[in-house]
Amino acid sequence: MNPTPQLHNEMHELPIRPRGLLWQTDFITPSHEQHLLHIFRHELTWPDRPGRISLHYGYTFDYKTFNIDPDIPYRPFPDWLVPLLPARESRPPDQVCLQYYPPGAGIPPHVDAHGPYDQLYALSLGAPVMMQFRRGEERVEVDCEPRSLMCMSGEARLLWTHGIKKRKTDLVAGGAEDGEGGTGEGQRVRVRGERWSITYRWLREGGECECGDVELCDTAQRRLGVEKEKRSVVALREAAEEEEKRRREEKGGGRGGEGGES
Ligand SMILES: [Zn+2]
Repeated sequence: MNPTPQLHNEMHELPIRPRGLLWQTDFITPSHEQHLLHIFRHELTWPDRPGRISLHYGYTFDYKTFNIDPDIPYRPFPDWLVPLLPARESRPPDQVCLQYYPPGAGIPPHVDAHGPYDQLYALSLGAPVMMQFRRGEERVEVDCEPRSLMCMSGEARLLWTHGIKKRKTDLVAGGAEDGEGGTGEGQRVRVRGERWSITYRWLREGGECECGDVELCDTAQRRLGVEKEKRSVVALREAAEEEEKRRREEKGGGRGGEGGES
């Protein structure tokens, strides 16, 4: 996409809807990635349960009070994480989440809470996966290639949900008509593998979002008092509840990894 190596290493906006999706391929080298995967597989202690699992660093947000959870101490960024922090912001992120997606795992469509969080970045590692952005009837698939860093800003951050379908394969563009997995229609089936993502969040100053989108904005919903009634936010709420449940389990449930891995 970018012809010169220099541009290749900077974030650029993808020429798609949603607008505001900034992208950088090869944020790290393949050997750096392999080094990280070794740490993730062998040196970290993960929660013991199937499906998508996560480890948290930095501050933990409390969805009940909409503030930093005072019961969970700040967890310093481990050495391996420090070189992976996006450098485009004026300060390091407030919260970093490392997630492991076993093959076939997904995450329901959601928008990260508007009020508490501002900037949002994600680094993909391991196997590629298709992420789906949605707004109304629109669906846009974005290929999360390993080692690519994305920044969701503007519409992509606030007005579109994003999620990963729970499935064992993805249909991806490009060739292989005659080869294995080819569909003969310029697409091919790609088998999912193990994927890790690192999500970086910055807390929003003041904790209030002014986008005004009643469907997706927690601030706008709170101001209108319509959270409970709005059918269109069911998916969002379920995702938040699922996350809170996970956090509660991790907080109280003898979470194997909590104290150990940093
Ligand atoms: Zn908003």
